Amino acid sequence: MYDIIIVGAGPAGLTGALYALRANKKVLLLEAKSYGGQIINANKIENYPGIEVISGYDFATNLYNQVMRLGAEIKYETVVKINEDRTVVTNKGKYKAKSVIIANGAVNRRLNIDGEEDYIGKGVSYCATCDGNFYKNKVVAVNGGGNTALEEAIYLSDIASKVYLIHRRDSFRGDDRYLGELKDRDNVEIILNSNIISVSGKGKLESITIKDNLNNKKTLDIDGLFIAVGQKPENEAFSNVVDIDENGYIKATDEVRTKSDGIYVAGDTREKMLRQLTTAVSDGSLAATIAIKEMK
Ligand code: NAP
Repeated sequence: MYDIIIVGAGPAGLTGALYALRANKKVLLLEAKSYGGQIINANKIENYPGIEVISGYDFATNLYNQVMRLGAEIKYETVVKINEDRTVVTNKGKYKAKSVIIANGAVNRRLNIDGEEDYIGKGVSYCATCDGNFYKNKVVAVNGGGNTALEEAIYLSDIASKVYLIHRRDSFRGDDRYLGELKDRDNVEIILNSNIISVSGKGKLESITIKDNLNNKKTLDIDGLFIAVGQKPENEAFSNVVDIDENGYIKATDEVRTKSDGIYVAGDTREKMLRQLTTAVSDGSLAATIAIKEMK
């Protein structure tokens, strides 16, 4: 029996573990992929108080090491169900805890266009830091208008010969600072009011077709497409113990509490106004603190 099982080893889950371990609780982290969550792919973090600049990889690894040194147990398993009695069922086993914190984050949103899935790993990517290096002196496109897309376009413009930045509206959601930097780069071409409607190539990606708001279509010859159109939660497996809003996020009845006793939620997976590193770690610390206080 564990005191706390934490579903997800991103910043929210790892911070929850940090607080629980420091309170001498027995903690199991269950992670489907790798530690660190989405932040591990961030090129640079510049908005975390007290740290002027750090790579996402260094931040995540420091936090992971900090938690592991305190004695956390981590299993790389996918949670398929949480029972009301706080038995957590994974693809490999069953674990019981006094409290459960769901901190499973969100996954990259797909464009849902023909061929997208077929070309993943063959030209289509969701992470410039992971795959950008394959495109040295090649032509790439980034799709999206948020900070991820802007940061990825900047990162790729140092590697690729040409970067198209394609966004569906005429203004960007991401910071002006990043946009200014992009506009100063000669090898970046910004294409607004346009959506990608198809990807094609023989065995690997060779071109994309885009359509603008006036229905004009254009084909761009590219080697790599980086899709950065936000994230979406995956919480269907927990619908027996939590309420889920119309966008798939877990409803927190009171900050990090869910409708089920002893089951809490932290980080990007919950309904909230601001999804940032700062709010993820805030949720993690709060969820662990409340879980410990309410532990039966
Ligand atoms: P985001 O802010 O949600 O932006 C997603 C972008 O994708 C939006 O521009 C959206 O267009 C577009 N989009 C969504 N669905 C689309 C579709 N089906 N087809 C075409 N475009 C689509 O996501 P994000 O950029 O991943 O950022 C997530 C959060 O992390 C944000 O709070 C962001 O500020 C933060 N972040 C911060 C940093 C940093 O500070 N260094 C770096 C990365 C991310 P519309 O604008 O038209 O809705």
